[in-house]
Amino acid sequence: MIRFSNVYKRYSEGREALSNVCFHLGKGEMAFLTGHSGAGKSTLLKLIAVIERATQGQVLIDGQNVGRVHRSKVPFVRRSIGIIFQDHRLLFDRTVFDNVALPLVIAGHDHKEIGRRVRASLDKVGLLTREKAYPITLSGGEQQRVGIARAVVTKPPMLLADEPTGNLDPDLSREIMKLFEEFNRVGMTLLIASHDLALISSLKHRILTLHDGRMIAGGDDPEAEEFA
Ligand code: ADP
Repeated sequence: MIRFSNVYKRYSEGREALSNVCFHLGKGEMAFLTGHSGAGKSTLLKLIAVIERATQGQVLIDGQNVGRVHRSKVPFVRRSIGIIFQDHRLLFDRTVFDNVALPLVIAGHDHKEIGRRVRASLDKVGLLTREKAYPITLSGGEQQRVGIARAVVTKPPMLLADEPTGNLDPDLSREIMKLFEEFNRVGMTLLIASHDLALISSLKHRILTLHDGRMIAGGDDPEAEEFA
């Protein structure tokens, strides 16, 4: 589903953020992406979501080189991807319902369909009773779950999460990971960036490790393990 082939990323200002990264994530797989702060985790996720483009190499989603997709076609690529950020980026002047509905409103779905899908999504994250609430009245864990409901409301086959539990205590973090496992059980492909090694090591999923922009473990580069 996702394949990185000798991918390099150098920002116009700054050093190389990713260097010769190779890995393949199969359809229906759930994997963690870890590494120190500045290792390149966010950059790798941004290349998949075409928020940034590779300087060299190929980023393939279902065989399509998304690094080469024309700007006007990027929204089509993003339709297959749900994205979750650490700071969840909710709109604080809108209700929970309206926040989750946003991607469907943008996609032009009708009113009835939006109501049905938003409630199904809120039900999945256990927030069905809070649809009329404003995000400010929710706990940090609940706010993050609203962000997750918004990311899955369009039923994307793939979910990317960037430090989704970064601001949460261990119990809430585990709950969020359980939620991701439930999505994975029904066939969703997930790639979750997290530097919380204690948490991700306790779950039995593949771990991809970046160090200074290089994939030192879990990837496809046979020479990489020697750096680990
Ligand atoms: P991580 O998510 O693992 O903390 P990042 O992908 O955010 O790592 O960053 C990797 C490297 O790229 C770091 O050295 C960071 O300073 C640099 N970087 C990230 N974004 C930019 C940017 N927009 N411009 C210049 N350098 C950047």
